[in-house]
Amino acid sequence: MYMRFKKTLVVTALLGGLVLLTLLNRKVSFFVGGFFLHTGYVIQDWAESFHHELTDHDTVHPNEVFKTVMAQNNLQAKVWQVTPNIKDRKPKALLILCIDPRLDDNRILGDTRGYYDIIRIPGSVITEEVAEAVELAVVKHEVKLVMVITHTDCAMERLAASEDGRHHYPLLAEGINNHSKRMQTLSHRPAILERLQKQQVWVIEKRIDTKTGKFL
Ligand SMILES: [Zn+2]
Repeated sequence: MYMRFKKTLVVTALLGGLVLLTLLNRKVSFFVGGFFLHTGYVIQDWAESFHHELTDHDTVHPNEVFKTVMAQNNLQAKVWQVTPNIKDRKPKALLILCIDPRLDDNRILGDTRGYYDIIRIPGSVITEEVAEAVELAVVKHEVKLVMVITHTDCAMERLAASEDGRHHYPLLAEGINNHSKRMQTLSHRPAILERLQKQQVWVIEKRIDTKTGKFL
């Protein structure tokens, strides 16, 4: 009887300690939250009722995909109703990220709700529109960090290096082949340069390892 009581006490103390640590320590709560987030994705992966065909020649009708989007939104709205409200956040960083589906921003960064503004475009190409959007984020949202993120094994980079790719996607290919020049032009936009010189913002480029999801 005494032993059982002792065991219960130890388990309760351990669980209590873990909850307390989770609430008090940012790193622990981020890690534990990230663990549950990822576990949640694994659980969703078990439900194979949605269209996740990996081939390019899926014959699914657009209407089926539309219905899936609507049904998932409907389910997710119910999740919202039964879970606590999340905090309002203001973006501090702007990421330019390739559309490669292997680059899941939640998986790479753990929590992308609100801390990051994200623009996704093949090959992280800095088009005129993207450059203008960066300026808007720097001036209006006062983001402190702009990260142009390229990645290993990028299909768009391969296309840009090929005759066929340059023929079919001339603007994207040109953007990739002039990447460093575009980075410079981006930093030299007057509104951005002014803030760069005052150290109010950083504009940097990083490459990510697509396999591990880690920055190189
Ligand atoms: Zn890519």
